[in-house]
Amino acid sequence: MQTKMTPMNDARPITRLAPSPTGALHLGNARTFLINWAMARQQGWEIVLRMEDLDGPRVKPGAAEGALAVLAWLGMDWDYGPYDQLADLTPYRAALEALHAKGLVYPCTLTRSEIAAARSAPHGDDEASGSELRYPGVSRGADAGDGSDLLEEDEQAWRVTIPEGRVAFEDALAGPQAFDVQAEVGDFIVATKAGLPAYQLAVVVDDHRQGVTEVVRGDDLLSSAARQLWLYRLLEYRPEPTYTHVPLVLGPDGRRLAKRHGDTRVDTYRQRGVRAERVVGLLASWCGVADKRREMTAAEFAAGFGPDRLPREPTVFTAEDEAWLTQ
Ligand code: GLU
Repeated sequence: MQTKMTPMNDARPITRLAPSPTGALHLGNARTFLINWAMARQQGWEIVLRMEDLDGPRVKPGAAEGALAVLAWLGMDWDYGPYDQLADLTPYRAALEALHAKGLVYPCTLTRSEIAAARSAPHGDDEASGSELRYPGVSRGADAGDGSDLLEEDEQAWRVTIPEGRVAFEDALAGPQAFDVQAEVGDFIVATKAGLPAYQLAVVVDDHRQGVTEVVRGDDLLSSAARQLWLYRLLEYRPEPTYTHVPLVLGPDGRRLAKRHGDTRVDTYRQRGVRAERVVGLLASWCGVADKRREMTAAEFAAGFGPDRLPREPTVFTAEDEAWLTQ
């Protein structure tokens, strides 16, 4: 999948669309991507498409192609990529070696659920939210060896030593944020037992090497931004990106939109003959772009979008929304 890389030191801001091919895109994912895309097209940011395919067993065959097809069907495009992650682990290895050379990583034997949590992005109410348990640093001081086995499949994962203290940043939507990562999460995993870079590390390495300056994503990853900013600092990467964390779409039960709420996959609506403009129109009504649901193209969405109009509370996918899509 690899094509040309983004030019580093490009004067233009760059953002990324970063689907995980662990399942088909549902309406909530589509809304976040459409907001990201509209902000980019309005403000002249370039767009990297990055397929986050490091999530081992959770990656589903065909999901990457499916995500690209759905984004394009809805009217989104991108300037670079699609890139993937698994094809070449060299950049992640180099970052781990840099941390190792500074004495900032150490090996640790972990439980299965902790490994699972490290592989994927820690989304709010995911079952595998073990990464949210604070790690008490029990393996700190373990012999880190010569660093030749940082990405080797074996009995140990690698954790990064996180200093004490708060990381503060301004989120363009969520406002001022401060997290004490050491107190809340502890030394987190940067490489898994499976010999793969963990989500937190992979995102930082990729955002840096792909020249990403603007990160727009769901607000279930707000606290991850603090972990990622620590990695920027420990790796001495500049510039740090600007963050915009978007409230999520919930099901009628108030939980993050997921399979339990029925089949809200965009591709299912497409296969049932629902027009892309209708899906975009629903998303527009969820984003303050339209007062009520009406069909529109992605370009019309981008023309009408403004972060100020975006609801600051989560959106609820209702039975009326479903009826409007499929009527
Ligand atoms: N691929 C991640 C996800 O689907 C996105 C991570 C990010 O935007 O940093 O959750």
